Amino acid sequence: MKLMIALVLVLLASQATARTARGSMDVQWNAGAADCAASPQPPLQVHEYEPRTFILRQSPCANFEANFLYLLVGSDRALLIDTGAVADPARMPLAKTVLRLLPERDGARIPLVVTHSHGHQDHRAGDPQFAGLPSVRVVPADPASVQAFFGFDAWPGTGGVDLGDRKVRVVAAPGHHPGQLVFHDDRTGLVFTGDYLLPGRLLVDDAAAYRASTRRVIDFLGDRPVTHVLGGHVEMNVAGELYPHGSHHHPDEHRLQMTRADLLAMPAAFDDFNGFYGRYGDFAISNPIRILWILAIAALAVLLLLVLGSVRALRRWRSRPR
Ligand SMILES: [Zn+2]
Ligand SMILES: [Zn+2]
Repeated sequence: MKLMIALVLVLLASQATARTARGSMDVQWNAGAADCAASPQPPLQVHEYEPRTFILRQSPCANFEANFLYLLVGSDRALLIDTGAVADPARMPLAKTVLRLLPERDGARIPLVVTHSHGHQDHRAGDPQFAGLPSVRVVPADPASVQAFFGFDAWPGTGGVDLGDRKVRVVAAPGHHPGQLVFHDDRTGLVFTGDYLLPGRLLVDDAAAYRASTRRVIDFLGDRPVTHVLGGHVEMNVAGELYPHGSHHHPDEHRLQMTRADLLAMPAAFDDFNGFYGRYGDFAISNPIRILWILAIAALAVLLLLVLGSVRALRRWRSRPR
């Protein structure tokens, strides 16, 4: 009987996966350059994952954050997740590029909703480019606006948005940022994680909240199909070595896409986390504020030892036999 139930579950899961629109991750992302001034390059790269799903990547030369942004097109409206790290449309023609990707209906582009994985500046600096555009709604990144737009049942809880023939569900995942969201797209089975999970540093603001979020996200995904898990940045090379913070050059960049297995590995990683830094497979967990405190205390201790040493040397020098 148990075997029968397991077989039915596997069959249902495979049917759900088969129903998701297939896409391609066959793409070489712009690696930036050691000397960006000497090698000018396009600021924004657009990858068509499938005809109604686009991945946009800001060049590491345009901003070291090199954000990935996601555009999901439904039959009634489209959803843009994040606007990246560059405000100036002359340096980063984001709104122009996104609007061009929207299909037309009755002679006009379909409406666009602009939202965010979370409120950090590198995920919303491009918002002003969309302000005041016809048929574009920018959902402010503050918690109240986000919760109202997605119809959250509670916080931290779940919500969603209907794009017509495409539903995107969201779950609150605070820990890196109090308003962090994780998105699941029913058309493609893609999961968008912003800075919650990415091949690089998971920066902890609130470790207890982050740990609780890891289990909430797993429960939320349940048996939904997951094709790829896509974060907001890539911060390491194929060998798993982290790029220095602020680097405009990403040689041999690690692939963007992560898996359900990476999401499932997060609770154990956070249980193991020592509060400062830990390395787990394709991600590192780091609490930069705590590390700064430790460095500051260490620097003070060194300074104190130097002062004490100098005072002792001075005393010895003064009390030397003349
Ligand atoms: Zn962030
Ligand atoms: Zn970020």
